[in-house]
Amino acid sequence: MKNTQATLVLIKPDGLKKSLTGNILARLSETKLEIIAAKVVRVSKELAEQHYYHLKDKPFFPELIKYLQGELHDRKKVLALVYGGEDAINKVRQLAGATNPEEADPTSIRGSYGRITTKGLYENVIHASTNESEAEREIKLWFLPEEIIVDLYHAKIKTQDQCTHRVWA
Ligand code: UDP
Ligand code: MG
Repeated sequence: MKNTQATLVLIKPDGLKKSLTGNILARLSETKLEIIAAKVVRVSKELAEQHYYHLKDKPFFPELIKYLQGELHDRKKVLALVYGGEDAINKVRQLAGATNPEEADPTSIRGSYGRITTKGLYENVIHASTNESEAEREIKLWFLPEEIIVDLYHAKIKTQDQCTHRVWA
């Protein structure tokens, strides 16, 4: 039986600074999964903290938040993508490699391009969701329903008084 899944990928600021975007996307295309959403995001402190909320009690949390916000690499953005297809979560995690770049398979993305800083932070160039519930939580955190080209999760129409937004002039 087919197990169609969606997973969030972030090319983190070190990946952007090291000019690895093309290489990482080429590696990800080996999975034959489909890109169903993509955008460049300026990461607020709130977004970074919500993304990594499960690590909030770790000693490296403040540094990790700065890392995701791009403050360690002078690149205040990440490239956020949603990949969809059969077994998407495990396929991307396999290709990404272990969290610790020293322990990651040397041919994986993190094994090839990651490093551990002198402060002990794992700069591992890519984020990949770990399981279906985390993938759903993360995709909903980073993307609006209209930014994803398929209907992944239930959505609703929200009308708000005095709602303003920018349009092209
Ligand atoms: N991280 C770190 N030191 C650790 C564990 C995690 O610097 O001991 C960083 C690393 O950048 C990692 C991120 O925190 O990618 C999120 O950690 P998580 O345990 O969720 O690992 P992942 O799901 O990214 O493999
Ligand atoms: Mg994780």
